[in-house]
Amino acid sequence: MSPNHDLVIIGTGFASSFFLMRYLERAPKNVKVLVLERGNEDTKAWQLANRRHTSIDPDDLMDNQTPGKEWYTSPGFGGNSKCWMGGTTRMMPGDFKLKSRYGVGFDWPIAYDDLESHYGTVEQVMLVSGPSDSPMPRTRQAPLVPHRFSDPDILLKQRFPDGWYQMSTARASVATGQRGICCASGICGLCPVDAKFTIQNGLSKIYQDARVTLRLRCEVQTVETAAGVAHAVNFVHAGSVERVTGDLIVLGASALFNPHILLRSGFTHPLIGRRLHEQMPVYATLDLKGVKCYNGSTVLSGLGYLFYEGEHRRDHAACMIETWSSPFAYRFDDALRLERGRWNERVILGFLFDDIPSDDNTVTVSRGNPSVARVNFSGYSEYAQRAADQIPRMLDTLSQALPIERLVGTSLGTTAAHIQGTVVMGDDPATSVVDRHLVHHQYRNLLVLGASAYPTASPAYPTLTVSALSLWAADHLLGPAT
Ligand SMILES: Cc1cc2nc3c(=O)[nH]c(=O)nc-3n(C[C@H](O)[C@H](O)[C@H](O)COP(=O)(O)OP(=O)(O)OC[C@H]3O[C@@H](n4cnc5c(N)ncnc54)[C@H](O)[C@@H]3O)c2cc1C
Ligand code: SF4
Repeated sequence: MSPNHDLVIIGTGFASSFFLMRYLERAPKNVKVLVLERGNEDTKAWQLANRRHTSIDPDDLMDNQTPGKEWYTSPGFGGNSKCWMGGTTRMMPGDFKLKSRYGVGFDWPIAYDDLESHYGTVEQVMLVSGPSDSPMPRTRQAPLVPHRFSDPDILLKQRFPDGWYQMSTARASVATGQRGICCASGICGLCPVDAKFTIQNGLSKIYQDARVTLRLRCEVQTVETAAGVAHAVNFVHAGSVERVTGDLIVLGASALFNPHILLRSGFTHPLIGRRLHEQMPVYATLDLKGVKCYNGSTVLSGLGYLFYEGEHRRDHAACMIETWSSPFAYRFDDALRLERGRWNERVILGFLFDDIPSDDNTVTVSRGNPSVARVNFSGYSEYAQRAADQIPRMLDTLSQALPIERLVGTSLGTTAAHIQGTVVMGDDPATSVVDRHLVHHQYRNLLVLGASAYPTASPAYPTLTVSALSLWAADHLLGPAT
């Protein structure tokens, strides 16, 4: 029989790894930690040789009910860090207080200030490149110098000094000793020079700690509970079902698979699996007169906050704008101009809108195959759509900086690749599943980490907040550093 563990962690992505990092800093020398990961190691060498980031087909793990809508996930050691783009924005203070400030959506049970120091720590660990100025309050600057703007970014920064910033990103701007310099090739799903932070290149040492046993190819099926305590985890390895017990159980399997595991386990809170959401991504392609683009030093070079915070959030969603500085990064079939000598007088802007989650967007357990998560998405809210309808007005404002010749087109992205909601956090057990420290309201030795806890989307990229929340949860459990 397997010995009892002090801590059993499920998953090896950002949520689990940042929690484990902090846990090991504080835990005694004799603790026993078991980490169960469904996928393989899929080393960088394996990824490059096979030209894919995971040896498991993610489509085999989900039953997507919504044609045209995509959900990206990368099973295996390091989770989505293998394929993410490395954008590391903090949320804005107003994102945490949508209801009390603007009368819409829901409040988070925590505020920006609760996470501020944790944001700083994560930025140090990820070796984030970022600007010296910032749209949100911060006590520490990013550790690496910012990436070079593209020419459109330079014009936007000159015209809107408090509204346009260099990209905050875990894609290195200078060689770090661990990672190469980002060269804006734009194939970040499989970064050839390892420029972006991944769990493999930045945090794998925690899995080599003598207190930690990492077991790969272990698909967790259920968490067992009894007498108000979560006490065991059941999983399948090499075709056999195994069971381990633990004093503390930490679920970090993502916003798709956290609710899936809880529902398979028989957890019954009505909000488990509900309020699945992402930002609404809309891309605009613009021809510019005499301005060369795609010359920033990283794939996404600028961030616009002009339409983010403000009273408009009472009526429609906030927007963060990103400048794409590589024509090859996404499925942009209109990235280049065909006129001689003008191929790069074109800019692609991404508009990311926050969304108010709906109970109708769900993750459930597939009836045909309980190992598969059934995903249903009924669409974005009218709140997000009303904001997207403002794009022509936003472009009018941007034309004060950019010589826009014509709008080539706009398109709704099939995914923001930022899966959120489904095990929401809050102070009231009737309207949330986990508390402000991501501890299950009823089972106090069970933590559910990651973006599944998000009560609302923000336009910001989610993963810096996912990682900061894991430090916040660990600090609450273990007490502050001495
Ligand atoms: C293409 C792409 C680009 C992205 N770019 C950005 C970006 O630029 N900026 C940003 O902020 N975010 C980005 N994201 C989102 C980001 O990847 C997620 O927010 C982040 O990975 C969430 O971390 P996590 O640890 O909660 O989940 P994951 O990274 O998904 O990790 C979950 C882990 O749990 C394991 N697991 C799942 N189910 C089980 C099970 N049953 N048993 C055992 N193990 C299990 C998985 O194998 C995985 O290791 C991107 C995502 C994608 C797909
Ligand atoms: S742009 Fe190129 S170098 Fe930079 S992170 Fe992406 S793949 Fe790596």
